[in-house]
Amino acid sequence: MKLKTLLLFLLSISASYSQQNPELYKITEAISAKNIQNDIQTLVNFGTRNTFSDTLSNTRGIGAARRWIKQEFETISNKCNNCLEVFYQKDFVTKKGNNRVPHDAWVVNVVAIQKGTKYPNRYVIMSGDIDSRASNTMDFTTDAPGANDNASGMAGTIEAARVLSKYSFESSIVYVGLSGEEQGLFGGAGLAKYAKDNNWDIIGVLNNDMIGNIKGVDGVIDNRTFRIFSEPVPPTETERQRKLRRFYGGEVDGISRQLARYIHKNTKTYMPEMNPMMVYRLDRFGRGGHHRPFNDLGFAGIRIMEAHENYTQQHQDIREENGIKYGDVIEHVNFDYAKKLTAVNAINLASLAWAPPQPKNVAIGGIVEASAKFKWTKVEGAKGYKIYWRDTTSPTWDYSRYVGNVTEFTLNGIVIDNFFFGISSVNENGFESTVAFPNAVFQN
Ligand SMILES: [Zn+2]
Repeated sequence: MKLKTLLLFLLSISASYSQQNPELYKITEAISAKNIQNDIQTLVNFGTRNTFSDTLSNTRGIGAARRWIKQEFETISNKCNNCLEVFYQKDFVTKKGNNRVPHDAWVVNVVAIQKGTKYPNRYVIMSGDIDSRASNTMDFTTDAPGANDNASGMAGTIEAARVLSKYSFESSIVYVGLSGEEQGLFGGAGLAKYAKDNNWDIIGVLNNDMIGNIKGVDGVIDNRTFRIFSEPVPPTETERQRKLRRFYGGEVDGISRQLARYIHKNTKTYMPEMNPMMVYRLDRFGRGGHHRPFNDLGFAGIRIMEAHENYTQQHQDIREENGIKYGDVIEHVNFDYAKKLTAVNAINLASLAWAPPQPKNVAIGGIVEASAKFKWTKVEGAKGYKIYWRDTTSPTWDYSRYVGNVTEFTLNGIVIDNFFFGISSVNENGFESTVAFPNAVFQN
């Protein structure tokens, strides 16, 4: 090979490598399975973390658990020059009108915010749950270790804070332990309202609920596959938007779905050993999770979860019946798998918090023409933009073109009728926003 050819070859390699960011690989490796194990054990040791359990004891109940979580966030903050703002966010829930609430109580969330340097009011949120439950959700005294549901998600959230607090980001990252999940998603509703009242610009919520079980009730053992649940379109869309979708599409392109695709793509890129599975529904069939209250207010939010659940190990008193051991005990948690799913969160929090905002006004044109056309408004902090498209039957953005620092572009020969399209913003380090689906149509 001639020197010049070799040089060109090496240049082309480095150009393709620069499509990936080495920091994100480092983040996946920095997440510790041992820390996650220790934290799950600590949470389990509180006996029960039922939202309506004891709040005064320092060793048992929800009060002790949330004080420990707050202290843990504060310890992390001390090590990063007070980079986390740690506080309780709480709402009072009454027995009246809630048939799963045994008595009036404060539902208390523990919030830790790592403020962004450039866009402090833009937030990407990782959540787990503090609370657990026994067989009877009204029973707040019986042991309810909740090791997988959901000490795993809580421990993952704390561990992500440990790792990401060593970096600084342009947008803010929120690490939160939510309460009152088991009795009606109270904690998520409380924080979602708090976010709305404080005008938070939410990039997305990554809700983690059960991220540690690899052995399904059906006997399948799988430590690679996990699920990303996302609703199709926000429930807050207007009647007019619903009618327009009939003609312009978007049934499977809501903001939560774009967040799910973003996570799916990043996982495939940086953790190719994993098998992310997008599920096109809000949550499991008829069941709920803490991303939903955020969705209810029009925020993007998804649920990250193991692929194979074991129902004898969730929401069950610890006991043995007909040779089956019931109960959500720590022996069933796979810490290495919880580490992997925590890493999925961490790389997505990082790349979203490093990325510029997505284009706001994306208009598409090209009706009865040979080419699809786009116009959008400039995004401050973006170096350029990427147009994505895919076959209408494809779940993922399969084609893309980086178009540089422009605010309009024509994709020659790509017919508008046969694909779905979207646009992301890209900054100088290659970090990308989620894809914005067009929200306007223009003629010629
Ligand atoms: Zn549960």
